[in-house]
Amino acid sequence: PRRIFSGIQPTGQIHLGNYLGAIAQWVKLQENNEDMILSIVDLHSITLPQDPKTLSKNILEMAATLLACGIDPSKVILFQQSMVPAHTHLSWCLGCICTMPRLAHLPAYKEKSANLKDIPLGLFVYPVLQAADILAYKATHVPVGEDQAQHIQLTQDLARMFNNRFGETFPTPHCIFPGSDFARLRSLRDPAKKMSKSDPDPKSRICLIDPPDEIVKKIKKSVTDFTSEVTYDPENRPGVANLISIHSFVTGKTVSQICDEAKNLNTGQYKLQVADAVVSHVAPIQKKISDLLHNQDFLLQVLESGAEKATEISEATLQEVKDKLGLQFKR
Ligand code: ATP
Ligand code: MG
Repeated sequence: PRRIFSGIQPTGQIHLGNYLGAIAQWVKLQENNEDMILSIVDLHSITLPQDPKTLSKNILEMAATLLACGIDPSKVILFQQSMVPAHTHLSWCLGCICTMPRLAHLPAYKEKSANLKDIPLGLFVYPVLQAADILAYKATHVPVGEDQAQHIQLTQDLARMFNNRFGETFPTPHCIFPGSDFARLRSLRDPAKKMSKSDPDPKSRICLIDPPDEIVKKIKKSVTDFTSEVTYDPENRPGVANLISIHSFVTGKTVSQICDEAKNLNTGQYKLQVADAVVSHVAPIQKKISDLLHNQDFLLQVLESGAEKATEISEATLQEVKDKLGLQFKR
């Protein structure tokens, strides 16, 4: 049977890229009654400096956002990573079989460390913690964006290395990528880049909790090109194609249906249509997020009960690992 694990960092406000690329996939898997464990991976987020007050706020906002988007804690396990001790413990054990060159070559590390004068050790070992997140639950499938493929590969390697040295323990986890139609949304300011929480320019992304006039402004100002027709050509017209992807996602319409309906519009007029569609799609989600944020006790209760279930599963794995390593005595 499949067991799915996935995580999201509480590094900032959820944008449409996260929603489409990650959360919407999770909701779909949840509706298929998959055995699924979802974590707000706060320990990953502190690999780069975080303001403590903002981080706490972001953790609760992330929980509220996931629930508002349809994640149902009675169907899946939703928890905060740092509430479950097995992650860091297992991460240490895996770190002892992982080599430094293996980590130094990972593109995400190279990218994130490139501009830093002093590189935190945590940033370097981040993928080992990610492997521990997945293996602690013996997950078989990991829905992730394509940017994460190399990290899952590392997880597979560490699982195999552990199994070879200490006996069969972990299944090999496989990636599930979101449908290839719009694998990733692009920055509204620079369609060559992906939409990111950590992009310094907030105009580059549409956040789920942006007020309607912000959404309209950001889409109106989004970088497209000098052709006025609305056509879907991701290679040559990535900006317009990105708007069409967003439009298709929030309306459920197909790309060809959208292009057909926009035949008589120029890109300026089309942007207003996209903005309208986004605003009406996110309005009910925004209402739910704000209601949930007014009920902090409920959010904490959800996270605590998730952590309890996650602890039970991950502790069993940890005991097995400690036993295999020779750290555990039976009496
Ligand atoms: P950061 O800039 O802090 O890395 P992020 O926007 O990349 O933030 P993550 O928390 O790293 O978000 O990723 C959460 C999930 O969202 C992952 O599954 C990732 O693949 C997916 N994701 C992130 N950006 C996009 C995007 N632009 N389009 C589609 N999916 C995305
Ligand atoms: Mg990212």
